[in-house]
Amino acid sequence: MLLEMKGVTAGYGKITAIRDISIAVPEGKIVTIIGGNGAGKTTTLRAMSGMRPVMQGEIKFEGKRIDGLPASKVVAHGIAHVPEGRRIFPDMTVEENLRTGAFLRKDKPEIESDLDGVFGRFPRLRERRTQRAQTMSGGEQQMLAIGRALMSKPRLLLMDEPSMGLAPVIVEEIAQIIEEINEQGLSVVLVEQNAELALELADYAYVLETGHCALEGPAHELHDNEHVRAAYLGI
Ligand code: ATP
Repeated sequence: MLLEMKGVTAGYGKITAIRDISIAVPEGKIVTIIGGNGAGKTTTLRAMSGMRPVMQGEIKFEGKRIDGLPASKVVAHGIAHVPEGRRIFPDMTVEENLRTGAFLRKDKPEIESDLDGVFGRFPRLRERRTQRAQTMSGGEQQMLAIGRALMSKPRLLLMDEPSMGLAPVIVEEIAQIIEEINEQGLSVVLVEQNAELALELADYAYVLETGHCALEGPAHELHDNEHVRAAYLGI
């Protein structure tokens, strides 16, 4: 298993946001976490990337414990987080934003070729490399957030609601990018409120409800599950 989260409880001060969550991410797969507003999806992702402390349970990445490590150390292990709402640096240029993704890396010559790789994958970012990030469209900002995460050379990409606020045609484009990135060997944890999209992309899925895992299984099985269809797919 690439990442194993076992019995994790986490939250905010006295508020427990997720309780006893166990999630396994096999190498090369896309695992999705779906659920309604406030179900605990973002908190689960933040626990994985070291942005929220784990109160109980453990998280292993490539067999090594990573819970308790600060977020910067988790990135260095090979986990990159594309946060909800993109969180790009609005006043910095596209290229400067991308370079921040590589700030922990010491292999300077490779950074240049990886930057070129990101520009190859996202031609629109290359065209806008000197443009300030805040002037970009929502879809372009999402691409920038993904590109920045790729600049840390991750083996696991955590994505929080990449489809949020984007027009359907742009969502389709982002979905294709996620598929391509995965086909090239990167494992993905995808948090989505858009369950239709998530279950289409993912190999395996977890359904969170009020902080606990209500259901899990292969994505195509959950897609046919009556409860999932009624509660999340609007069918
Ligand atoms: P959404 O899709 O709306 O982002 P989510 O499934 O990602 O929802 P979380 O953001 O993980 O859910 O929230 C889980 C619970 O933790 C909610 O009850 C929420 O109110 C609470 N929570 C989230 N962030 C904070 C915070 N910064 N301080 C206090 N409570 C928080």
